[in-house]
Amino acid sequence: MNKKIMAIDQGTTSSRAVIFDQDGSFIDYEQKEFKQFFPNDGWVEHDPDEIWESVLSVSETLIKRLDLKPSDIASIGITNQRETTLVWNKKTGRPVYPAIVWQDRRTSELCNNFKTPDLEKMIQAKTGLLIDPYFSATKLAWILDNVDGAREGANNGDLLFGTVDSFLVWKLTGGKEHKTDATNASRTMLFNIAENSWDVELLNLFKIPESMLPEVCDNVHDYGVTNLFGGSIAIGGAAGDQQAALIGQCCFEEGDVKSTYGTGCFVILNTGKDFLKSKNKLLSTIAYRIDGEITYGMEGSIFVAGSAVQWLRDGLNFFESASDTETLIQQAHEDSKVVVVPALTGLGAPHWDPEARGAIYGLTRDSGAAEITKATLESITYQTKDLLEAMRQDGAEIKELKIDGGMVANSWFSQELANVLSIKTYRPEVIETTAVGAAFLAGINAGIYSGFDSLKDVWKVNREFIPSSTYQEEGNQKYLRWQEAIRKTLA
Ligand code: ADP
Repeated sequence: MNKKIMAIDQGTTSSRAVIFDQDGSFIDYEQKEFKQFFPNDGWVEHDPDEIWESVLSVSETLIKRLDLKPSDIASIGITNQRETTLVWNKKTGRPVYPAIVWQDRRTSELCNNFKTPDLEKMIQAKTGLLIDPYFSATKLAWILDNVDGAREGANNGDLLFGTVDSFLVWKLTGGKEHKTDATNASRTMLFNIAENSWDVELLNLFKIPESMLPEVCDNVHDYGVTNLFGGSIAIGGAAGDQQAALIGQCCFEEGDVKSTYGTGCFVILNTGKDFLKSKNKLLSTIAYRIDGEITYGMEGSIFVAGSAVQWLRDGLNFFESASDTETLIQQAHEDSKVVVVPALTGLGAPHWDPEARGAIYGLTRDSGAAEITKATLESITYQTKDLLEAMRQDGAEIKELKIDGGMVANSWFSQELANVLSIKTYRPEVIETTAVGAAFLAGINAGIYSGFDSLKDVWKVNREFIPSSTYQEEGNQKYLRWQEAIRKTLA
């Protein structure tokens, strides 16, 4: 019998449910945005109830619209915004505080206190991460230190911690399962990715009781069963969004790289069985864990990509829809030397300067919306080049790149990426690879796919972008201008 797979993709600005056929083809999706709360400078929160209600509502609506019975769905795969931190009471089910989102910088100072050479070295050796508010550990410590009764509740064993995947599994299984997957665990700054376990020394350092932590599971795993959709459906896979995209892009060989362009841009290189420690401020992370065995990745995170396009649209009113950028930039003067540094929320890898702010250089009287828009899209290609160069300096050999996310619908951007990076880029049929990855994991657990090898036939390329042979000289000049702009911005 033909079975479907459902992916739940809980993102930073919206929740999506996506149904795939067992041959991997996309059938339909439902999406719901939810509120972003900015209660203080640099703070970003989500309402856990709203996260949960949005997930429930998109899933129910989609199942109903496609007239599916629970028995038609072989398995559910979950993928999620990573690092975002939740704490809830296991008896009442109530969150003790809003979800503190990955973008939240409230623990900058706390992180600065930990930034001694010894601790930085120890944390990189254990977790592959740099000390930064981005990761869950200091967010969780903040909740325990600042929410009334939280420390006591945690010490009594009443409170549970989880990233969003963990919270969703707990809710979907009616509070039966408190689990997370290895990729999400690897972003908490509490998980030892060399030893494949929660790290007692780090738990002591951040004063986190071990009883709060979820069980860390493989990406393909029996996470439990949900009975919320009129019958029982198994939850068979979970992965953080960027790792899910890596899986959705079938980057299963050492040296394979994907780059996802959504709100931010995240490049992950598969480094195989080696936990490589970057000398260029890249992160090491768990790419996936299957049958207890870890495959590692090296990651570069750029915090602002598609959100710069949103800023041009909503902040500067340059155009109505993100897709208008493709025609608008055709009107840009060929000889424009405008450079945009889109450091709207600081700079991520390889600079890691949370205090940096955006800048526009090279404006002249004839600079307008078209030139600034073009320079903004170009800046995202240059940032990608900076990341790939950093990966190369760390020893990676990168020959081609698989791209995905909302921005790569823009073919000018995808071609420009190939030109700037001087390598072939591949855009898949389904650019929402995050959901594809979650569905692959669930499909493997349900026995629909025999394993990663069998997925290579399921992945289909939509278009190949080959670097233009005429780009190089002009491109070099432009990249030099970009590097100069970055230097000025960091100064
Ligand atoms: P996320 O999953 O992070 O919410 P998506 O993968 O859905 O993001 O991508 C949406 C982002 O891509 C938005 O920030 C939007 O501005 C940008 N975007 C969408 N379409 C285009 C386009 N044609 N050209 C440039 N940017 C685009």
